[in-house]
Amino acid sequence: MDFTDTPEEAAYRAKARAWLEENAPQFAVSGEAELEEVTGHDNMALAKAWQARKAAAGYAQITWPKEWGGAGGTPMQQVIFSQEEAKFGVGFGYFAIGLGMCVPTVMAFADEETKKRFVGPALRGEEIWCQLFSEPSGGSDVAAARTRAVRDGDEWVINGQKVWTSGAHYSDFGIVIVRTNPDAPKHKGLTMFWIDMKSPGVEVRPIHQMSGGSNFNEVYFTDVRVKDSQRLGAIDDGWKVSLVTLMNERLAVGGGAGLDYSMIMRLAREVQTDHGPALSDQAFREKLADWYVQSEGLKFTRFRTMTALSRGQTPGPESSIGKIIAANQLQELSNAALELEDQYGIIDDPALAPLAAAFQGGVLSAPGLRIAGGTDEILKNIIAERVLGLPGDIRVDKDVPFKDMPTGR
Ligand SMILES: Cc1cc2nc3c(=O)[nH]c(=O)nc-3n(C[C@H](O)[C@H](O)[C@H](O)COP(=O)(O)OP(=O)(O)OC[C@H]3O[C@@H](n4cnc5c(N)ncnc54)[C@H](O)[C@@H]3O)c2cc1C
Repeated sequence: MDFTDTPEEAAYRAKARAWLEENAPQFAVSGEAELEEVTGHDNMALAKAWQARKAAAGYAQITWPKEWGGAGGTPMQQVIFSQEEAKFGVGFGYFAIGLGMCVPTVMAFADEETKKRFVGPALRGEEIWCQLFSEPSGGSDVAAARTRAVRDGDEWVINGQKVWTSGAHYSDFGIVIVRTNPDAPKHKGLTMFWIDMKSPGVEVRPIHQMSGGSNFNEVYFTDVRVKDSQRLGAIDDGWKVSLVTLMNERLAVGGGAGLDYSMIMRLAREVQTDHGPALSDQAFREKLADWYVQSEGLKFTRFRTMTALSRGQTPGPESSIGKIIAANQLQELSNAALELEDQYGIIDDPALAPLAAAFQGGVLSAPGLRIAGGTDEILKNIIAERVLGLPGDIRVDKDVPFKDMPTGR
């Protein structure tokens, strides 16, 4: 592991920081952008303007080839830019799924004309994409998708339901995985399409979250017609296409570390108990020590990922370790902080609550973080199989025709 920037990386960091200092402050929303899912703040116009500014300077998708509006840069440069950007309060989330997962899938499987139509507008923040994979019958197991597409001449007719689709309510386009061959085993009868979210028969119903926001949705398809030219990859080969999408999700190494023990330590210094500041309480100090150890472990795990990227290697499954620890720690820290805040813990107005209600936001968002992009259990399976070399999860339905599975109808 190497913890320091190489001279080239340090130079890139300085250049990125100078550009951000000149351009970012006018787009900053003083910490609220990151809380958007929780507070329901609508920063869309500002976010689109910031995205366009980054695209014009080649910072929107640094690793993409220049011909597609990227900078032809390295993953390490992207990480450095994201780390620096995280310090400016411009961490809008609207484009992450489209640029991080959907558009790379379009770039890998669509024809030139389709790519020319979609890549530029997505990069500049003019059009937003969503990922329509999860269904009531299949989230962890995407291959259990039951939404059907039946061929009708040069078109396909889609019927079914997706769920938990982040941003579907403001998205222009999406990539959708559907079952085209129920006679084949579950991984072998799926096909991927891109879809216009304004197509007749697409109905988006926002899900009201406990945080007060409505960031994700149920999406219903009733006789939705898509052209065969909207297909991404071969018929019945959608599982392979979805793996490209999911691999991009796993590679999305973020910049900001979020809440950590140092923030709750700050809070514990200020909060007075009957025996002095909470920080001098023995039981609390014990918890603090545990969080410190976890945070240091996380930091070094991230360094491991960054070292791999810096050497031009693909990071291994250690990002799964990072996500399990970080999401669980966020939940624990936030719950403990609210206990410390006592009756003030119910105040979730960022203008009034300590640390801009970051802990209140953590209590409400951590459960979702432990599920999104792979649940704790699924990530533990990955670590067991791919890091520890333990026997694989039992997959009894691997070779069974989908229509013969209990959920296959
Ligand atoms: C904030 C958020 C945003 C999301 N955004 C999107 C989106 O934009 N697009 C999209 O398609 N989906 C999205 N999702 C859905 C997400 O991908 C799924 O919720 C997730 O994959 C889990 O699927 P599930 O909810 O169907 O739970 P299930 O897969 O039904 O799991 C239920 C429980 O069983 C456990 N379990 C399942 N399989 C195994 C196994 N093999 N071994 C051990 N335990 C297992 C799980 O860990 C979990 O505890 C989002 C979810 C969240 C929370």
